[in-house]
Formats: sequence, structure tokens, C-alpha cells
Amino acid sequence: MGFSVIREMGLRAAAYDNVIDLGIGEPDFDTPSEISRQALLDAFDGHTHYTPSKGDTELISEISVLHSRQAGLLVSPSQIVITHGGMGALACAMQTLVEAGQDVLVPEPFFPAYRAHVGYPGGRLTPIATRFEEGFALQPDALERAITPTSKVLLLNSPNNPTGCVLSGSVLDELAEIVRSHDLLVVSDEVYDRLVYSGQFESIYTRPGMAERTVVVKSFSKTYAMTGWRVGYAWGPTWIMEEMLKVVNYNTACPSSVGQRAALAALRMEPGPFNAMRTAFRRRIDLVCRRLEQMPGLKVFRPQGSFYIFVDVRAIAEDSRAFALDLLDQQQVAVVPGYAFGASGQGYVRIACTLKRKLLNKAMDRLESFIC
Ligand code: PLP
Repeated sequence: MGFSVIREMGLRAAAYDNVIDLGIGEPDFDTPSEISRQALLDAFDGHTHYTPSKGDTELISEISVLHSRQAGLLVSPSQIVITHGGMGALACAMQTLVEAGQDVLVPEPFFPAYRAHVGYPGGRLTPIATRFEEGFALQPDALERAITPTSKVLLLNSPNNPTGCVLSGSVLDELAEIVRSHDLLVVSDEVYDRLVYSGQFESIYTRPGMAERTVVVKSFSKTYAMTGWRVGYAWGPTWIMEEMLKVVNYNTACPSSVGQRAALAALRMEPGPFNAMRTAFRRRIDLVCRRLEQMPGLKVFRPQGSFYIFVDVRAIAEDSRAFALDLLDQQQVAVVPGYAFGASGQGYVRIACTLKRKLLNKAMDRLESFIC
């Protein structure tokens, strides 16, 4: 197992003084101070012990209320497990569901950590390439073709990192039908669910018959600018979650108690600051897309969600690694080469809009000088 290309690019970028880093998938906003203050008060108040392995009881109940308000959902506290970030939920879900030699089907390009999560229990990641021309949405017939007798889980990620694709309700309907007819399970990574700019976020979990076979993964990291607190959660049918709880318990005992109190404070807060962050991401994406669309040789996929832009650079360089390294060396702008997200990402680069507009503009000026 190697370190990720994203990390490698980060280390190379750190060698420059003047670098503008568009590689990091982390909001630049600090956690709203109200959350940090409440978490500290709760720590002083004694919330410094192990929590139940399932997680802080008040947090679980607040999450249950939050999601049960959403159309088509009824998520009871007994179905929820709090985890060490979305990463903890993904790793534990795979260890729970996958046995050695079984296949996990993953639309490509995909979040690079999936390879390790699938690999821990000895699973095999089977990529299913998606295409720019189809909005990077997983095509139902492509899923059907990829299924074999050893296929066990479909791992979906909508909104997607790195493409920003948000799967439409009609595609989810078709995917759900195939999943049911082949008796597959689904892990639905929805950590960017609140960062959607066009269309509406929908979950495969709400499709008929899917609540019995789907584990949903959520996180506080991106929506609430809380990456360092390391709190995420998963929910699913009790027959799976009872087993997953054991995996979480043996891996981490429980997530940080203070982190969980911070997450609770985030849920109890007025949503104003979070809506403002989403608006800022949308404005940044608009700005960067507009700039990129004016540059010769680039084909830009306008993301419907997340804070990434996936750009086709093949007219300039077939090898996106060479493109990214030259851009870093010559103009000190860091982006992530698309092959980091699977073979079909070759020829693309991922740009994270996680900097202020002024810096993004400056980065676009440098990219323009690099290209022109
Ligand atoms: N899933 C996707 C698609 C991501 O991009 C990330 C982080 O970048 C995660 C899961 C994990 O996030 P965290 O562990 O911070 O909740």
C-alpha cells in the first residue's frame, strides 16, 4: 500500500514558499467559534470519558431527529453509529460487509482512500469508468455489465469527489433496481450532501427496498468545517449496524468525546454560518469555472456539488502527472493529477476551491500563463 498521490503532491508543494495549493480537499474556514466554545464547556463539564461505542447518546438522538425530518427517511437511534470521521465509517463498513475475494464495485473516478478501505478485509475494488459526456454519472447498463458472482457491494459517492457529479433521482431508481435484482449491498458515501448547487441531493437509501441493504456514510468535516474534530456517522439496517458496531468498537472504542460534543453543538446551531460557507463555495466554483472556460485547451465539468472541479487537460498534456508537476514547478500552483482517482481520471486534474476568491483568481492567472 502506498501513500496517496494527493499526499505526494502536498509534500512537493510544501517545498515551495509561494505556492497556491488547490490540492487540498479541506474547507479553509475555521470551525465556527460557537461550536468550539460549546465543546470546551462540555469538556470542562466532564465530557472527557469514553462515550458508548455507538457514540454520544444526545448526538445520536439529534441526528435521528435531523434525518427523520427529511422526506422518505425514518432513521431510529438504534440504526446510527458515530464514527471517527467519514473515513472511520467507510473503513468499518467495508470490514463489516466484505470478505476476502469479494468485489466492491466503485464508479471511477473515485476518492483514493476507497482502495485501502476495500483492501483491508481482502476485498477487490472493481472500478466502473464514468464519462465526462454523461456527467460522470454511473450508467445503469455499465453497472449491470460489471456485476459478477463475486460482487458484494456497490460503493456510491454523490456528490462525488473529484468530479462534483450529483446522481439524479432517476439514475438512483435504476441503480437501486439493479442492486436489488442482484442482491447486492450499497455503501453510500454522502459526506458532501449539503454542498449541492444545482439539482437536489437524493439518497439511494430512500428507494424502495434499499433501507434493508444500504449503509449511509455522513460526516461533519465538510459541511460544518470540522475536519480536525474527526466525527462522522453511519446508519443502516439493524442487521448490519449491530455487526458494524463491533467493528467500530474494536477499531476505535469510540470517537473523541469532545469531538462528538462539538458535532452536537453544530447540529443545534442556527444554520446561517453553514449556508454562508456553501454560498462561498458556489461563488468560488463559478469564478474558477468561468476563468477555466476562457483558457484554450481545457474542458471543464461544472460540478453540481462538492467543492472540486475536474478539468480535462488532454488537449495540453495526455499525462496529467506531468501537467501537475510542471504547473507546480513553473507557476507554483498545486493541483491533483486525475489518475490519483483511478485510471479513467488520467488526462484530468482536480482543482479544490478551498481558498478565498482573490487567491483563486491569482492561481487562475498563473495557470493561464502556464497554458498560454
Ligand atoms: N468521502 C469522501 C468522498 C471524501 O472526499 C472524504 C474526505 O476528503 C471522506 C469521505 C472522509 O472525510 P472525513 O473522514 O473527514 O469525514
